[in-house]
Amino acid sequence: MNWTGRMPVPLLWRRFQLQFLSSQSVAVGDGRRYAPGMVHVGIGYDVHQLVAGRRLVLGGVEIPHPKGLDGHSDADALMHAICDALLGALGEEDIGHFFPNTDPRWKGVPSRFFLQEAARIIALRNGKIVNLDATVIAQAPKIYPYIAAMKRCIAEALMIPEKKVGVKATTNELMGFIGREEGIAAMAVASVDLPE
Ligand code: MG
Repeated sequence: MNWTGRMPVPLLWRRFQLQFLSSQSVAVGDGRRYAPGMVHVGIGYDVHQLVAGRRLVLGGVEIPHPKGLDGHSDADALMHAICDALLGALGEEDIGHFFPNTDPRWKGVPSRFFLQEAARIIALRNGKIVNLDATVIAQAPKIYPYIAAMKRCIAEALMIPEKKVGVKATTNELMGFIGREEGIAAMAVASVDLPE
């Protein structure tokens, strides 16, 4: 207060700013407060060809099927899409940059390893996965019976609760290369709480 008994304008402005900012942030119960700009979102997409003589692994779950996904690793398109979504939320380069398919170290490796690495990179940045959601696009086989197990594998690899993981599946209504069962695709989004 000054001699007139009024609060100086700069202090009034500061009080307004503090009130405005606190109304814009939300307590989340573990001492953190979300404010605009702290939650970063990433998107991921992957597709692999279906070929004879390969295991079909999606979301870390082996699915009985006459054909499997072709690729350098286990070709788990779902985990690859999720990995890219997480790396994208960090503003990092894609999965191929971190784990090139020309590197013999990644040959035949289970893709949960890539998710574990993404989780490690997020932890190094002091980040926290808020949630992720993914869709598998496959004409065959039916994916639904395996979704609960996929969620469990993905959550375990990332060391997050299953309730933070969404997995859905759809067909391609018999259209295009997915409809002809030549390949399976997956897309994912992820949000990561990153300190400024
Ligand atoms: Mg891939």
